[in-house]
Formats: sequence, C-alpha cells, structure tokens
Amino acid sequence: MVIDSIPQVVGMAYAIIATLVIVILFRKGKFSRRKGYIFLVVSTLFGFLVFAPMLPLQLQTIIMGNVKQIEAPLPLAVVVLVVFIVLAFAFGRSFCGHVCPIGTVQELIYLLPSKKLKISNKAITIAFRLLFSIAFVILAAAFSIGLLKYLGVKDFFHLDTASVFFWAFLAIAVISIFLYRPFCRLACPYGVLLSLAVIKGRFKLRRNENCINCKKCIEACPTNEVGWTDLKQECYMCYRCKEICPVDGMEYTRRYINEQERKKAVGTTPQPNTPAGESADS
Ligand code: SF4
Ligand code: SF4
Repeated sequence: MVIDSIPQVVGMAYAIIATLVIVILFRKGKFSRRKGYIFLVVSTLFGFLVFAPMLPLQLQTIIMGNVKQIEAPLPLAVVVLVVFIVLAFAFGRSFCGHVCPIGTVQELIYLLPSKKLKISNKAITIAFRLLFSIAFVILAAAFSIGLLKYLGVKDFFHLDTASVFFWAFLAIAVISIFLYRPFCRLACPYGVLLSLAVIKGRFKLRRNENCINCKKCIEACPTNEVGWTDLKQECYMCYRCKEICPVDGMEYTRRYINEQERKKAVGTTPQPNTPAGESADS
C-alpha cells in the first residue's frame, strides 16, 4: 500500500510541522483528545502511504551503515533524529504521542473497548526496553542485523502479508488492544533516547496546586506517570490525565511543584477525598 512515488521527505516535513502544532496547542491549552484523534489517524495514514516518519527504523539503518537505504544524505538523516530528541527535551514526547506511525497505530488500537492490562511497575518495561536496545545496537553495529525487521515494522506498514514478519507486528498490534503501546514501551530503541531526553526536559504535563489528590489521573494514565515525583519519561502526552481531572489540576508547564508545596499553597483548607495527614501518592 506504500506509494513509492511519494518521497519520504514529505513524511519528515509532516512530522516536524505536526509535532510543533501539537506543542503549540498544548501550550495554548487548546489541545484535546478529540483533536489528537485527527493527528493519530493522519499519522497512521502517513505510515501506510508514505512509510514515513519512521525514525526508529531510520536509527537502525544509520547504525547498520546502510547509507544507500536512506533517501536523504546521511548528515541530514542524523540531524533529523537529533532534532526530535531536542524537541522531546524541550516539549516532551509529542512526536511519540501523536506523530510516529508505529506509536499512533498502537494508540488507535488501544482505543478499542476491552479490559486493559496495566504494568504497575514501569521499571520493568524501562529495563526490558533498555536491554532490548543494547542488543539492538550491538547486533546492528557489529553484525548488520536489524532487530526491528524481525518485529515486522516495515512489512506491516507495507501490508506484506506474505512475510512472516508482518504477522509478528500484527501480533504486537493485537496485544495493543489490551496493553498500552507494547512496541514503544518494550522495544523501541529510539524511544529510549527520547525518554532519556525527557528526564531533564522542560515542558511536561504536571500536577499543580489545584490538584485535590482524587487520583483519577493515576487511574487514567496507562504508563504510571502522574505521580508528584514521576519524571514523565514514559509520558506519551495522550492527555487522558488532563481531560479526566475535575479541577484543572494538570498543567503543561515548566513549573514543578511537589506534594509539600501543593499542601502549602492550599493551606489548611480541607481537600475533598484527601483525609488529613494522607501521604503523597507515588
Ligand atoms: S517510542 Fe518509538 S515507536 Fe513508539 S512512538 Fe516513539 S519513536 Fe515511535
Ligand atoms: S495520562 Fe499519563 S501518559 Fe497520558 S498524558 Fe497523562 S501522564 Fe502522560
């Protein structure tokens, strides 16, 4: 289904524009999950029609030294990867959230109604992905083996049903019905770089002093990233926490307040659902 006559640079241009538009909408408080669905659908279509922007595969190609497979000059391809890492540092993983077709196809599938599985300890997924990514780099650099090929990313978006690897990614897609973004959270090596950038990043969705500790955001977050002290490296900017908050207690901001500062800001005013002396949630 990929239309080879459309140059992949079109997908790259879309990625930069869409990522920046999403950030602007977040900054202006005009983003909503409903608007997000438009980006999810368009980005997924880019994946199937243009096979771009596929930055995890671009990273693999560069590490393997398959320069001929990259449509752009090598330095430009590297710069693109770095640009999105810098954007993640400044504004969070809006690329992952609503622009990368590999992520958006999983996000769309996760919208299907079903009982959802939640991995309560995110250290497990982070550690697994790190180990996978170390193996990915060693195999790609030393043996020119591209692990992502065996996960079927390329064959899936090319609808190459004759390839056994198509079925591998289809299995990942089916798992996405129940588990949030299994590829992103367990396998994506580029996601490792983006998540590292976010740890010390600037703008993030954070709780503010309006928070009443009702914990609705914690229940809504598929990646356990809404605790007061969470670093947000696994936040895909899905907006579930923001939209479910009954008191505008989530804010896309550089300003970090911790649980103690919130308590100081609200003084001794009794807060709904917050018994006196309740400790901060994770
Ligand atoms: S984690 Fe990787 S696959 Fe998932 S959205 Fe981000 S770049 Fe794409
Ligand atoms: S619900 Fe979780 S993953 Fe989604 S935006 Fe909020 S913190 Fe990020």
